[in-house]
Amino acid sequence: MNSSRTFEENQAAAKEALTRYSSGPLLHLIDGELVGSASGDTFDNVSPADGKFLGQVAAGGATEIGLAAEAAASAFEEWCSRPPLQRKQILNRVAELIVKRADEIAAVESVDTGQPIRFMSSAAIRGAENFRYFADAAPGALDGKSMPTPTHLNYSSRRAIGPVGVITPWNTPFMLSTWKIAPALASGCTVVHKPAEWSPLTASILGEITHEAGLPKGVLNVVHGTGEIAGKALTEHTAVKAIAFVGESSTGALIQAQGAPSLKRVHFELGGKNPVIVFDDADLERSLDAVVFMIYSLNGERCTSSSRLLVHETIHDWFVEKLTERVKGLVVGDPLDPATEIGPLIHPIHCNKVRSYVDKAIEDGARVVTGDYAFDENSNYVNPMLFIEADNSMRVSQEEIFGPALTVIPFSNEREAIEIANDVDYGLAGYLWTQDVGRAHRVAEALDAGMIWVNSQNVRHLPTPFGGTKRSGVGRDGGDYSFDFYMETKNVAVAFDAHDIGKLGVRKT
Ligand code: NAD
Repeated sequence: MNSSRTFEENQAAAKEALTRYSSGPLLHLIDGELVGSASGDTFDNVSPADGKFLGQVAAGGATEIGLAAEAAASAFEEWCSRPPLQRKQILNRVAELIVKRADEIAAVESVDTGQPIRFMSSAAIRGAENFRYFADAAPGALDGKSMPTPTHLNYSSRRAIGPVGVITPWNTPFMLSTWKIAPALASGCTVVHKPAEWSPLTASILGEITHEAGLPKGVLNVVHGTGEIAGKALTEHTAVKAIAFVGESSTGALIQAQGAPSLKRVHFELGGKNPVIVFDDADLERSLDAVVFMIYSLNGERCTSSSRLLVHETIHDWFVEKLTERVKGLVVGDPLDPATEIGPLIHPIHCNKVRSYVDKAIEDGARVVTGDYAFDENSNYVNPMLFIEADNSMRVSQEEIFGPALTVIPFSNEREAIEIANDVDYGLAGYLWTQDVGRAHRVAEALDAGMIWVNSQNVRHLPTPFGGTKRSGVGRDGGDYSFDFYMETKNVAVAFDAHDIGKLGVRKT
């Protein structure tokens, strides 16, 4: 993996890789075979950077989902019964092959999503880390607990739940899909993956890699298509026991309803409107760096982005001045250029949504500062945005924009900061900056969110729980939390022959 590639080298890597995917439609991977849709239907995949046609993609529907689910069901017993050490070996091989192809994956992902290459290089490597972590954890996945009583030995064990569906979004599709697929495979589940239709390419690369690594046919299946058709069919299929979903909160609600008749187990990682609280005793320079990084990296298309800055009133003006300088200094450009900090947004529909918040901010009474990039209205580029003189009731404070847009809200004391932070429908992450240890713990405890970072940007440790409260999600993954989702737990109670058993039906004569 060579993260010091030039713009030209990245362009050449992307061109070479994309040639392979533009010669015919991108196919589904079903039962180890690359196949088109029975209907012959396809959709076009275009580059967010320039609207260029990247290739056609097979549009799957209920037929393809049915075939993939049957393949996953047929492959399940053999894969689940394998000694976990064999699963570990194969999944570690997947990790090695991802590292080998990391430059290609990063370049393809950048072109397909518009995400700057500087972030996609590390996202590809993180994909390998996800596989390595869960590969090494696989032998322990079956482990249960011993819970003895005076009369019984109780012990639990775990077994993979069955074939599962994984549905992923477009913001960092490769990394996010590995975060779901690696623990599912390590548990012994088989998988049907439905990647986002706006960014289908790297899901197919992962399919190729797992095949090359020796994953048996049918264990990972990839069906391309829209959410409304292929995604819906996956959530409704009776052979699929659980759905791991990453995407919008409203889609999560639909999936819950679609999966209800077949009693699907669901795990949802949804939207966020995460606060970063900066108190007046914080390390200002480090907190400034983190505030900027956590909203303007990854195009702001990041569930854990800190999109609301709650800043103490005494340092508010300093912060706004520094933020204005930083926003004007952000480099907007081609995603393959290593100098680029903000690339084009994924799609005109999403781009228009993000741009619309400039008017919404003004209508609601905020002031808008933007970057200096002269973008073409017909492109997917936007200027980074900073909304100041805002309060928490405005739409820019309440709604997930999912773009490079930060809302700044002043506060006067700790209690007010906590109230503002919690006064949203979401509860994914929270960040806080203070040098007062007592306050750090108090505020971390009071924030209604699944993950809190203190004096830190978002640094992940894979065994820790990942997920949100309120409209940000259902359940947790990471480490053993993932295995709990992808596995059924069984308890066995063995008597020591010492407990009373009531005698019924014994008539006294
Ligand atoms: P989305 O919900 O529109 O789509 C996500 C996936 O769901 C896609 O594959 C889509 O095809 C599919 N889908 C859509 N409708 C469906 C249906 N009725 N049934 C089944 N599948 C369906 O989300 P998006 O716009 O692709 O992604 C952005 C969202 O993802 C943001 O809200 C962001 O916060 C969220 N996200 C959350 C996390 C997290 O960990 N919490 C991580 C990344 C992104």
